[in-house]
Amino acid sequence: MLKETVVLAADVGGSHITLALVVKGHVMDSVTIKAEPIKGMRAYLPLMEQMAKQLVENNSLSFLDLAGFGMALPMLVDSKKNTVLSCANNKYEDAVEIDFEQWAREKFGLQIRLEVDGNLGCMGEWNYGAGKGVQDLVYVILGTGYGSSVVLGGQPLRGRNFTAGILAGHMVVNPMGSKCICPGNGCVESETGTWALPGIARKTEGFHTSLLAKREKIDYAALFEDHALNDSVATKILERSIMYWGASLVNLIYAYNPQKIIMAGSVIKAGDYIIPRLDAYIKKQLWTIGEYPEICKAQHFDTAALLGCYSLVTTSDEYE
Ligand SMILES: [Zn+2]
Repeated sequence: MLKETVVLAADVGGSHITLALVVKGHVMDSVTIKAEPIKGMRAYLPLMEQMAKQLVENNSLSFLDLAGFGMALPMLVDSKKNTVLSCANNKYEDAVEIDFEQWAREKFGLQIRLEVDGNLGCMGEWNYGAGKGVQDLVYVILGTGYGSSVVLGGQPLRGRNFTAGILAGHMVVNPMGSKCICPGNGCVESETGTWALPGIARKTEGFHTSLLAKREKIDYAALFEDHALNDSVATKILERSIMYWGASLVNLIYAYNPQKIIMAGSVIKAGDYIIPRLDAYIKKQLWTIGEYPEICKAQHFDTAALLGCYSLVTTSDEYE
């Protein structure tokens, strides 16, 4: 007889897929493979089955010992019906046609719960990380793009189409700005996202003589390095991004009145440069009654969504 509740969790990402066994607040064991989302979701289901079997065997468990299966997906999800509503172009596009409940029942004998990866990252931080005990919380992920999720009044915010709070990356911060991957222009994601950085850098005055121009890959890690070497173009681009991120946080604070903003994602993980500057921007810009919200770094950069899968499976009443 197991002492602890164990959940099977999957984090399906843009470049990797991780399967894990998760107990409350802790990843017991995990296995990760590289993934190419353009190949579609069906291409990876047999691999995920193998990974799950390997995990339970390695830990002397069987699927009968597990409380359920939680899956984090980089797409819009109906978390009540456990179906995929919409995928971005070339990103596991066939997922909308897959009956995940049937698949999980047939292959593992488990009830599956699907949720947007950003929402599960937020759940992980809220229950087991930087957001513990906070009733009103905004979670922001600065990575390839700009992800978000919100807890309001002690409840995860979902909205009528399951999109409330998760599309903050497409809040407009520069209406005359560049074309986004969404139908809009000048979203905070198209003005600051890692995917947009090479284009932004090339348009920045002085780029051709900058350290950045010599690089094969322009991402935030490169900007932090070149900024540390006093490259003025890198500094200018960083300050520009901080201005747009700051503007987006001010908008989020007006919308959700949070006590805390948790910053996650590879850009935040790469350096301590950003959060103090965002804090300063907000304190300069915000019209507030009472205290400013606290801006802090996530505690579980790589595992928050997996920890959130545990919450999803074991506290399903929050979603009904
Ligand atoms: Zn957009």
